[in-house]
Amino acid sequence: RKAVVRISTGSQALDELLGGGIETLSITEAFGEFRSGKTQLAHTLCVSTQLPIQMHGGNGKVAYIDTEGTFRPDRIVPIAERFGMDAGAVLDNIIYARAYTYEHQYNLLLGLAAKMSEEPFRLLIVDSVIALFRVDFSGRGELAERQQKLAQMLSRLIKIAEEFNVAVYITNQVIADPGGGMFISDPKKPAGGHVLAHSATIRLMLRKGKGEQRVCKIYDAPNLPEAEAVFQITPGGITD
Ligand code: ADP
Ligand code: MG
Repeated sequence: RKAVVRISTGSQALDELLGGGIETLSITEAFGEFRSGKTQLAHTLCVSTQLPIQMHGGNGKVAYIDTEGTFRPDRIVPIAERFGMDAGAVLDNIIYARAYTYEHQYNLLLGLAAKMSEEPFRLLIVDSVIALFRVDFSGRGELAERQQKLAQMLSRLIKIAEEFNVAVYITNQVIADPGGGMFISDPKKPAGGHVLAHSATIRLMLRKGKGEQRVCKIYDAPNLPEAEAVFQITPGGITD
């Protein structure tokens, strides 16, 4: 049985909400509107994952699949400096790939799994997990096929998390809830339907607060207390 490793988000409040950080052997999903901090959290995790275990890191490499072209290596530099790490070395330990179609995204996962059997990885990021599916299956009547392919992708992610003891961090979009109706004040929900709901181990709902403040709430977990964590986005990454 592999031991769970908890990787710091950079914010103590957020780590506490998560019980110590994002966990290996599971899928952590973050969803929220544009600029809610999903990608910034990914950038911070790229660095914190490489910290030693006693510094709340994962002591491992990072694999990053980017479907929207929003990874910024330049952003990694001040984040690495904040944690007292060598930025060049940190960048060398991030294996980055841009995906252009959902099939490409799937094939990249297969390639990364091969790499993970050779080198110690602790984090796999897919930012965003669903964007290409929404483009590639945009037609009417394609929803069933989309969900089937999405389920295949997510089951591959779960296998990778378990086989290599990595944390999987995926981002998702919000969509209008067609069942919301006029009396519900915030008729928004994560995309991906039941398939994504059942695959994610923990779902984080991010929203904007004042200025660079962001608020994270654990979504749809009846066995966890309703709690929120406030964090900040700074040049040094996610912090309290
Ligand atoms: P999402 O992926 O949810 O769309 P992002 O993670 O890209 O959102 O967050 C973008 C926001 O992060 C920006 O609007 C800005 O407020 C903040 N941000 C980005 N870079 C920096 C930085 N270097 N310093 C402080 N805040 C930043
Ligand atoms: Mg983003």
